[in-house]
Amino acid sequence: METNDQVNILLVDDRPENLLALEATLAELGQNLIKANSGAEALRCVLKQDFAAILLDVQMPEMDGFETAALIRERERSKSTPIIFITAISKSEQEAFKGYAVGAVDYVFKPIVPEILRAKVRVFVDLYQKAMAIRQQAAQLEAVNATLQKEIAERERAEAEIQALYANLTQKANELARANEELEAFSYSTSHDLRAPLRTMQSFSQFLLEDYAERLDETGKDYLQRIAAAAMRMDDLIQDLLAYSRLSRTEMELKPLHLKQAITETMAELATVIRESHAQIETDDVSFWVIGHRATVNQVIANLLTNAVKFIPPGASPQVRVWAERRAVAARASGSQPANEGASEDGRPRFVVRLWVEDNGIGIAPEHQERIFHPFERLHGRETYPGTGIGLAIVRKGMERMGGCAGVESELGHGSRFWIELPQA
Ligand code: ADP
Repeated sequence: METNDQVNILLVDDRPENLLALEATLAELGQNLIKANSGAEALRCVLKQDFAAILLDVQMPEMDGFETAALIRERERSKSTPIIFITAISKSEQEAFKGYAVGAVDYVFKPIVPEILRAKVRVFVDLYQKAMAIRQQAAQLEAVNATLQKEIAERERAEAEIQALYANLTQKANELARANEELEAFSYSTSHDLRAPLRTMQSFSQFLLEDYAERLDETGKDYLQRIAAAAMRMDDLIQDLLAYSRLSRTEMELKPLHLKQAITETMAELATVIRESHAQIETDDVSFWVIGHRATVNQVIANLLTNAVKFIPPGASPQVRVWAERRAVAARASGSQPANEGASEDGRPRFVVRLWVEDNGIGIAPEHQERIFHPFERLHGRETYPGTGIGLAIVRKGMERMGGCAGVESELGHGSRFWIELPQA
């Protein structure tokens, strides 16, 4: 209900001409005027609806104004409705007191002065409308409050659910991590133990080939050589597996190291492979300091270089280019200057160094570019390109353990560009 909504005003008088006069006087207030011609009629009205004010004639037959007022006050709905008594000028003070005693709010004496009556009634209309508005606002507030309470309760329930899920997830993650550790420890020790019998197989097939060669025909020798080759392949596999699982087991102390030196050392280690493959390796712009674990960085570079000279189309000679570049890491918060060049205020590197190894090899189709970083994922048969399928898994895991990352850009038939990224020192 708006404050300017019409309100009800009850006019009570036994004489129709008086009622009409009252009606005419109050018409300009623009409210809803309801007429009753007796006290009984007035009581029926107050039972049915609410009134902003009741104008009550005092002198009425049967039930006079005071009796009517007393009964109006008894009804719950009308117990505080303002009552204005209308009485003849021949009032006595005693009568006025009686009126106040039964709950009159005001008196109007006959003959009625229209302006005064209107002014008095207007006050009650205003009061009533304001009270209504306040009640309405209170109801709205209550509704909003109820909705808010409901939302809070729902949010609390959702939060509790999330927390429970999170706790569950953390527990599962811990269990998984423990299971993983156990598995890694198991595979590490198994791989280790597997190498001893393998070496025995290799040695004895070698002894057979050397000491019993004249007693074996060509087929026998061929079989033996195959046994030796298979044992060697298995040994390679186990060594790679050991290197892979060692990556998660060893504590890595990360220190500044010079990329150029790491590349020079690795190329020296790979001298034979490079020479035998007739590869040309060109290195430029690799003078950067990075933060990493020396042995792991060397191993990662070695794996990338080995692949770069290995996955070459038949008849072609490998051309490899190695270079590095400094890249800014997207800023996270404030733009203020960090204390040192390499790291930002929140401890994250501000710059990383990306090392590229580009080859002129067979290339990799886009759909395989992610899976080749997983253990044992190979795109070719061992006869075409030998290998264990663990090299790139070592690259990815090693980089992650050093807080870096690795990736590839390539197109089938058009060479590949592998990259690794480490924080700049
Ligand atoms: P491996 O070299 O022992 O096969 P990797 O994990 O190093 O294992 O590589 C996985 C696979 O990714 C390789 O078998 C090959 O199919 C593909 N690959 C890796 N490096 C290159 C490269 N430079 N060019 C083309 N393919 C590559």
